[in-house]
Amino acid sequence: MEGKKSTRKFKTEIQQLLNIIINSLYSNKEIFLRELISNASDAIDKLRFKVQTDTELIPSDTEFKIRLTPDRDKQTFEISDNGIGMTYDEVLDNIGTIAKSGTAAFLEAMEKSKNESAITPELIGQFGVGFYSAFIVADKVTLVTMAAGSDKAAKWESKGDGTYTIEETTKDTHGTTITLHLKKTEKDDQDFTQEYTIRNIVKQHSDFVSYPIVMNVEKVEPIPENEQILDKDNKPVGETTRKVIKDDTLNSMKAIWATDKKDVTDEEYEEFFKHISHDWNSPMERLHMKFEGTTEYYALLYIPSKAPFDLFQQDRKNGMQLYCKRVFIMDDCKELIPEYLGFIHGVVDAPDLNLNISREILQQDHLVRNIRKNLVKKIFSLLEGMDKEKYDTFYKEFGQAIKAGMPSDFENKDKISHLLRYKTTKSGDKLVSLKEYIANMGAEQKEIYYITGDNFAALLNSPHLEALKDKDYEVLLMTEPVDEWVVQSLTEYEGKKLKSAEKGDLELDKVDEKKKDSYTELFDFIKSKLNEKVKDVKPSTRLKDSVACLSGEDFGMSAYMEKIMKASGQNMPSPKRVLELNMEHPVLEKFKKMMETDTTNPALKDYSELLFDLAIISEGGKVENPAGFSKAIGDLMSNAMGDK
Ligand code: ADP
Repeated sequence: MEGKKSTRKFKTEIQQLLNIIINSLYSNKEIFLRELISNASDAIDKLRFKVQTDTELIPSDTEFKIRLTPDRDKQTFEISDNGIGMTYDEVLDNIGTIAKSGTAAFLEAMEKSKNESAITPELIGQFGVGFYSAFIVADKVTLVTMAAGSDKAAKWESKGDGTYTIEETTKDTHGTTITLHLKKTEKDDQDFTQEYTIRNIVKQHSDFVSYPIVMNVEKVEPIPENEQILDKDNKPVGETTRKVIKDDTLNSMKAIWATDKKDVTDEEYEEFFKHISHDWNSPMERLHMKFEGTTEYYALLYIPSKAPFDLFQQDRKNGMQLYCKRVFIMDDCKELIPEYLGFIHGVVDAPDLNLNISREILQQDHLVRNIRKNLVKKIFSLLEGMDKEKYDTFYKEFGQAIKAGMPSDFENKDKISHLLRYKTTKSGDKLVSLKEYIANMGAEQKEIYYITGDNFAALLNSPHLEALKDKDYEVLLMTEPVDEWVVQSLTEYEGKKLKSAEKGDLELDKVDEKKKDSYTELFDFIKSKLNEKVKDVKPSTRLKDSVACLSGEDFGMSAYMEKIMKASGQNMPSPKRVLELNMEHPVLEKFKKMMETDTTNPALKDYSELLFDLAIISEGGKVENPAGFSKAIGDLMSNAMGDK
């Protein structure tokens, strides 16, 4: 391919994405500039980071800046940076393909909604479509780029019509230049070649970018006296001023994290968040702090208002950037915040940081550990201090992330446990904290009951809860996989044990020993018919209306956990559980009589299996032999209806 120009097709999804972006962002055209400036700024960050770690890389141009060049006559707009650039292969990888999981997730969400008008800039912003936003204003985009350390450049070009061309080319310095061939403007459109329009957009959206965003502008300046032609009376002949073209820096590069709070406006805080997060929504909360003590540092943290689509993706970058004396050191700084709080975006500027620090050393660094500890503390107090309504909104978006901290952040286990919220058998749609749960407990209730499963309605009506409901005990309904890990690490809350409603003995009522004895034979008989499917058959401690349910051992795996493990591809035998039967149910008495009359009656085996299947179905599980189950029920119905 090299040397030759080759024409390639966009991945179909990209073309789809382009159309969506173009159609849905017509009233927000100017955001293209923010997106491209962000990419340029990221590219410079990346180069600076690489230079620190790769001693062989000596960039030819270290006067880092982003240059904007509008051309009125040609109707083009150029944006160039002297950042890390891309190799030919990187262009192929990054542009025109789905490089990011976000894009795929976006299209999936699109596919589901089937409604393009539902796509708002905010929705798109969550995915950060970045580069493709160029096509909002351009009908042709040319990208020329050279990777730092390379002497070959690549040129990519597309009209956004499904194909692009790519070829090798040359370029003077490393970095990327993107030329937008602007679409014809309509009556009320902004003119992106006009100086004040560009100034305004940069000021509004990209003021904090930490590299100068420069543009050639026309300025009027006085002609120095020694260059003026004077008449015999020493008076200047002609003009005293002249027009010159000069570079002007359009952004303040204000490091707002290192600025006094009172000198930062809400709008500035918001724009800065959008800049570092690539999220277009306003943040839900912010924390701006200056820590003083033996060492000083600044931190500016944000909680986004929406969870990103890739929140639980393994290789997800976190949102923390590390600066030292206002100079960018690295992004995705995992050492600054625990993984489960990785949805937080922010900047930490630690002037005393050792600049030669590598990621490996960073982890051990005393100062960094200290910062991390403080940040976590502040985040927890922010969350604890939120009013109920706000916290509920937060929890809806990030509750799963908070829960994920439970098994991983031992130090903050207590704090996390206060932040947990669940719907319960009594709360309707409301979320309840464990504290509230305990406050609602009656005097005789000793433990906190919960049940796990993926289906809220099935849990609410689960037969496992019958006896608990009968006693008017509240049960936490846990419907997320991560809850299984929560209950494994949280065995107690404020002195009250957490108890699974489907495991072990609930010990709610004394079992009628006499009655139990009278059923021993039947239960042993049923067990023998169930071919090793169950560990035991016992009188139930939890049923009131239903005839059967399955319970696990106190420390055994729950049915939901088993489901999760199997869904994640773990090949394991199903743990055997106990079939619990309701001795008060009329079926059992009849079953008993039937067995006593004739133990060889083949229906006894069918009924035993039916009881087992009923227990499975009532907890939302799948029976092993659905056809057999259905036939058995059909036969029963037919018998019950008689011959008429
Ligand atoms: P995002 O920036 O959210 O990753 P984009 O579609 O904007 O998504 O860009 C895709 C990738 O292309 C970037 O992650 C980056 O690797 C590369 N890229 C874009 N713009 C530049 C640039 N100016 N310099 C170097 N690489 C760039």
